[in-house]
This record gives sequence, structure tokens and C-alpha cells, in this order.
Amino acid sequence: MRPILPFILLLFMLIGTSAAGPLDSTGLSIVPKPVSVKVLQDTFTISRLTVIAIPPGDPELRTLATLLLERIRWAGGPLLTIRELTTGEKDFQGILLKKQATRSTKEDEGYRLQISRKRLVLSAKSGQGLFYGIQTIFQLMGAEICRYNLPMTYTEWEIPCVDIRDYPRYSYRGMHLDVCRHFFPVSFIKKYIDVLAMYKMNTFHWHLTDDQGWRIEIKKYPGLTATGAWRVDHEDLPWNERPPQKPGEKATYGGFYTQDEIRDVVRYAASRYINIIPEIEMPAHCVSALAAYPQLSCTGGPFTVPTGSYWPNIDIFCAGNDSVFTFLQDVLTEVMELFPSSYIHVGGDEADKTNWKTCQKCQERMRNEGLKDEKELQSYFIKRIEKFIISKNRKLIGWDEILEGGLAPEATVMSWRGIEGGIAAARQGHDAIMTPTSHCYLDYYQADPAFEPKGIGGFVTLRKVYSYEPAPEELNKKEARHILGVQGNLWTEFISDPSHAEYMVLPRMIALAEVGWSQKSARDWNDFRVRLRGQYLRLDKMKMNFSQGSFKVDVHTKWDPESHSMKLILGSEQLDVPIHYTLDGNEVTSTSPVYTMPLDLNRNGVIRAGMYVGGTLKEKPVEMPFLYHHAIGRPVKYYTCYSYRYPGDGAGSLTDGLRGSSNHRDGLWQGFLGDDLDVVIDLGSEIPVNSVQINFLQASRSWIFLPVMVEYSLSSDGKKYHSFNEVTHNVSQQEKEAVIQPFNFQFMAGTKARYLHVKAKNVKVCPAWHEGAGQSCWMFVDEIVVF
Ligand SMILES: [Zn+2]
Repeated sequence: MRPILPFILLLFMLIGTSAAGPLDSTGLSIVPKPVSVKVLQDTFTISRLTVIAIPPGDPELRTLATLLLERIRWAGGPLLTIRELTTGEKDFQGILLKKQATRSTKEDEGYRLQISRKRLVLSAKSGQGLFYGIQTIFQLMGAEICRYNLPMTYTEWEIPCVDIRDYPRYSYRGMHLDVCRHFFPVSFIKKYIDVLAMYKMNTFHWHLTDDQGWRIEIKKYPGLTATGAWRVDHEDLPWNERPPQKPGEKATYGGFYTQDEIRDVVRYAASRYINIIPEIEMPAHCVSALAAYPQLSCTGGPFTVPTGSYWPNIDIFCAGNDSVFTFLQDVLTEVMELFPSSYIHVGGDEADKTNWKTCQKCQERMRNEGLKDEKELQSYFIKRIEKFIISKNRKLIGWDEILEGGLAPEATVMSWRGIEGGIAAARQGHDAIMTPTSHCYLDYYQADPAFEPKGIGGFVTLRKVYSYEPAPEELNKKEARHILGVQGNLWTEFISDPSHAEYMVLPRMIALAEVGWSQKSARDWNDFRVRLRGQYLRLDKMKMNFSQGSFKVDVHTKWDPESHSMKLILGSEQLDVPIHYTLDGNEVTSTSPVYTMPLDLNRNGVIRAGMYVGGTLKEKPVEMPFLYHHAIGRPVKYYTCYSYRYPGDGAGSLTDGLRGSSNHRDGLWQGFLGDDLDVVIDLGSEIPVNSVQINFLQASRSWIFLPVMVEYSLSSDGKKYHSFNEVTHNVSQQEKEAVIQPFNFQFMAGTKARYLHVKAKNVKVCPAWHEGAGQSCWMFVDEIVVF
């Protein structure tokens, strides 16, 4: 089926036929990008005569050699031979695997891969490093290596000669899977682990217990799975609209993993150098357990396993009842017997303490332990569990809520509500794993919801994931060492089957794998997009259901100093799907002009742009007004800082000609958290100035409020300013819908100026009636328009 192909032709197949040449700079498509790659001129040929040699007496090396042999054979290649190398390796021809710690293989998970015409030498300090080197070999073999169960099809297989040195940036590279909201069979868990291993991830975070299902067999408490693993089947109803179980109704949806199955999965993962962190949720997200053992709650129940959304999380373990701790210790003892992981995850998130406030036992515990509020009671809960976990030589890890009320002495924090939890943990000298919703929640939409399977909401595109930088700027070097790595999370409220789960994690987890593995300097979006094309071919061979990413057209503007004009730039996540556009007010269609180069922005107008594949629109076209005015492209000097969370288009955002929509996440708004806006625009020379027009956004549900007032002043020399006016507004802060409010000012005829100073006063904190009362609030601005 596949004869030997010249290397260049093989690459051409890998990358696809319509890509006129865009290979990455090494000419390969390895993901994640290795530390250094040297491509040499020759090829190495694997044939049935090729020997895989290993030094004698190391069973791990034999296992790794077998893995290489089996994969090549399964994919239709020749059957190789494994041999222990007894004589010197100097004249050896073939494949050689060896463990050695040299300067080029000093990192625990690193490897060196040297392929010449006569031999392929893979060396690493550890078996894990060799395993990753083997994954790289597979990536050099084209997509065909990802096939399974093929009869022998090729007698020979060519690999390009390379010299690769590689090791990971972060020691923790993980993916999470929630098997509680929906149950996933062992076969899928193994497939999931396979994909993680393919991209050199080393941790699988298995979310085993939650309100809607208890998924792990615990011998001492059979009710956990007999009752807790099953719920009434309302899969036909939306997650948030499902009625609770009625008396007499039979619970038929669910499932659980037996201890034998768990041991099997743990072994399977270990052979792929993946550690599994089990998660047992406490003190909340445990209604499935309370359904079986209601005496562990504050109220005594009764409870049924929720059939869909359960919110707020009021029914939680009673923190005043010692038998709760006995129960949890028993459960954790069985869990630790099954999972060798040094980390044990105890959840700790989203506990609503309403019942603790009225529970006699909980209040008594607070009095006896001198705890001042329920947050400290949660902290007591987690600390008590940590003590037990440490006594078994393991380490506690939990979601960032475990910081509240005081962090347990040796706990590691998973920062999910943002990066602040990770920053706080690192500053306290604790380790942290970064998994913020903004970049790592793969249950969020990756493209226009109108064209996607139903999801939980949110918006995290492939490009957004790829742009994630795990080391927060706020940390100094020493603190940053506590950031162990990154993790992608897949919650499954809206994901009921393996195929949908695959679609959500692919290709975004591949982007995250590169974030965790590759050096910061090696990461390049355009280069990644090219290499990703090669990965799509692999996923296709593996019959994975993957997304092609977003087909949304991004609109940016850029000042071109040469032509002294503003340019409209269109782009997308796609590599070579044409973008059609109009500027004349007409709707965009598949016959509209194709975008080929930046467009001049020299008047007011509207850009409409969309992408079509085979004449079919792939996503709703963008429609964006643009403005041509005096301040366009002009430098803005900031005296206060916009937040890294809503930077808009950065320092040029306020003079880029683009205005935001009522969606505060559209990337066009610049956000100031608790801070005023204080900027000066240099118009280049003294010119007539008629008016200033600035829009601010109010979205009270997202803690965004209009400024108290906006003040304009003008200057001809940048030193002496004339203050002109203060503009206020009369929009109610309690307005539920988003409001875009203009703060405009008309100058007297004949006014001239070179510098415009704009100050907008932030209300600073959310008002008393608001859910965020007293906490910093946002102020959002998009463009400073000067006519
Ligand atoms: Zn209680």
C-alpha cells in the first residue's frame, strides 16, 4: 500500500496537498516542539532485517523496545527483532536504545535522538525519557504509524535523519476527566491515556466522585456504588432542567469502575509513564455519597442522586461529625491502595456552607477548635484530611478554594478560578498547578456556539489555549519555581459520550501539551498551526473525532508607518481556508472577494468576513464597524495600567479604529480593575479638534460599571493642559442588560490641540446591593475617537 517514498514527498503527504510549502522551520511536524532539532540530509530505513538492540539485563528497556516493535508491526510495518547487545556498539547498525546520563540527557524526562543512515540511537537518563523519545520517533514516521491492526503492508519504512535534544519545560503536564456527570467506559479511559502519552503528557487527573455519580468501588461501603453510581435517566432533558428522582422511580443511568478495572487502568497508564491522580471530592460535591449514607450530612437527608444540575452545593459532609472523617479515611485508604500516585486530590471546591451555619455539630466543632467562621471550618476539614494523607506518605492536592480560611501545611493548589490561586500558593511557598478557566477549561466552546454541539458556555479557542503562559508575571524567579505545570480540564455536564469528549479535547489538549512541554521561546502560533496539520492526519488514522478549530475571522488593525495609514488585517485559526469579505455594506457570501493582503482603513465603514468550505459557511461571519478619526494609530501614554485579563489589543487598543460589542469578552474592550483610566494621546501635531467620543461598557452581572465621570483636557505642548469638561451619565447601575454608554464632548469652534488627556474615574468597588459588594469592579473602554 505504501511504497517507500522519498522523504520530501512523504512530508508533502503529511502536511497535505494544498499547503503550498508551509512546513515548519525544521521541515518536520513534531508536537510538542522539541528543544532542538537538526535535520540531516539522509534517511534511515527500517526493514525486516532491522534489529532493536538494548543493553543486557534491563527489563524496562525490553518493554520499551517491544513497544516500538509492536507499534511498527501493528501499523503494517515489518516485524523487527529485539536483541541484547553484547559486543561493543561502535559498529552496530540498527536501532539502539540505552539509558545513560550525559550532558545531553541529564533531565529526568529528557532524551537525545540521533539518527544517521546506518543507525538510530535513542538515549535518555530514564525509561520515561526513552518513552518520549519513542513518541518522537513515531512522529517522524508519518501518520501511517497511527494505524492499528493492519496486515503487513510495508516491508520498509523510512525515517529522516535528525539529531534531536529534548526535555520538558514543566514537570507536571496533565489532563483531567470528569466521569461523574457522565460515565465513560474503561475502553475510552485507555484511549484518553493513549492520546495523553502521544503528546508527552504525564498526568491523568481522574475526577471519580461528584454529586451526580460515585464511580469508584469501595469495598467497605458498597452503598457508594450500589446507590451512588446510579441516577434516574433524564438524558433527554437539558442538564439544568431535570427533575429530581421521584419515589418509586428506578435509577438506571450510571456506572462505576470495579477495583480490578481501576488496577488495570493504573497499570495501563504506568506503562505509558502517566501517573493517575484520583480525586475524591470533599466536603462538597458528594450528594451521590450522601444518597447512600445520609447520616454523613448535617441534616440527615434523605437524598437522591441528582439527575442533572445540582446548585448551590448545600448538602455537603458534616464537618462536626467524627464519623465523617472515619468514613473518608476508610475511603482514602482503599483509594491509596489502588493508586500509587503521590498526589491525592480531595476537591475542596464550591462548598456552600449554609448547612454548616445551622448545624449544631458543626457549630460545636467551631467553638471547640476556636474557628472564627465557616471558611476556617473548611480549612480545619482539609487540614485534618491532609494529616491523614501525609501519614500515608502521600501529598494532598485540591482546587484553589482550599486557600480560604488557611492552606493546609503541605498542600498543592490547583488554580482554576483564575491565576490568583496559583500566585497566592506560590507566594506562600506552596506548589501550584495552573488550570485557569480562561485557557484550560476544555468544556467551554472552542468555536461559534451556533455551529457547535451543545456546551456549557464560555469561549476558549485553540489559539487562546496555545497562547497560555503558565508562569504569572507577578511571581519572582524563586516563587515561579512553585508553578509545577499546566492541566486541561474536561467537565462533562454537557458531554455524554466518548465521541463528544474527543471533539472537546482535540485539538486543544495538543496545544496545551506544547504549552507544558516546549520552551517558551520555541512556541510560535503560525509554526504550531502548520505542525497541527500533520497531527490531524494522525488523529484521522486513529479514528478520533476532532474539531478543526474555530472558523471565526479575527479582525485586527495595525498602523503602517511606511504608508502612514491604518491597515485592517484579517486572520483565523485555519491555515489555508480562504476568507471572503465585503467593505461596501453588502452581506458576505462565498463569491465575495477573497482576502489576500491588509486593507486600507481610510474611512468609516463596516467589515464583514466569513469562511466557506465547499461553498458552506463554517461559522457566523464577523461584522465589525471601523472608524477613521484623528487619533487613529496615534501613540497612547498610560498613567494607569489596564488588566492583563482584558488587554484589548494592547497599548494600541484605544486608537485602533475598532469598537467593542455588548459582549465584554470580544477582545476589543480594555478593562481596568479598580483603577482609573488616565491616558494622553499625542495627535502628532497641533490640529483642529472638534469633539471627543468615548464609549464605556456597563455589564453589572460581570462586575463592569460605567465611570463616575470622564474628564478631558487639551494641550499644545504636552505640559500645560486646559481642562475642558467632566462628562457624567445617568444609567442605573442595576440595569441588568449590557449598556454601551457614550461620554462625548463637543469643543468650541476653532479649538486646536496636539495632546489629549483623558481621565475616567472608576467607581472602584461593586455597590452594596451587588454580589461583589466591596470588591474591586471593572471599567471597560474600547476607543478614544477624536474628530
Ligand atoms: Zn454539620
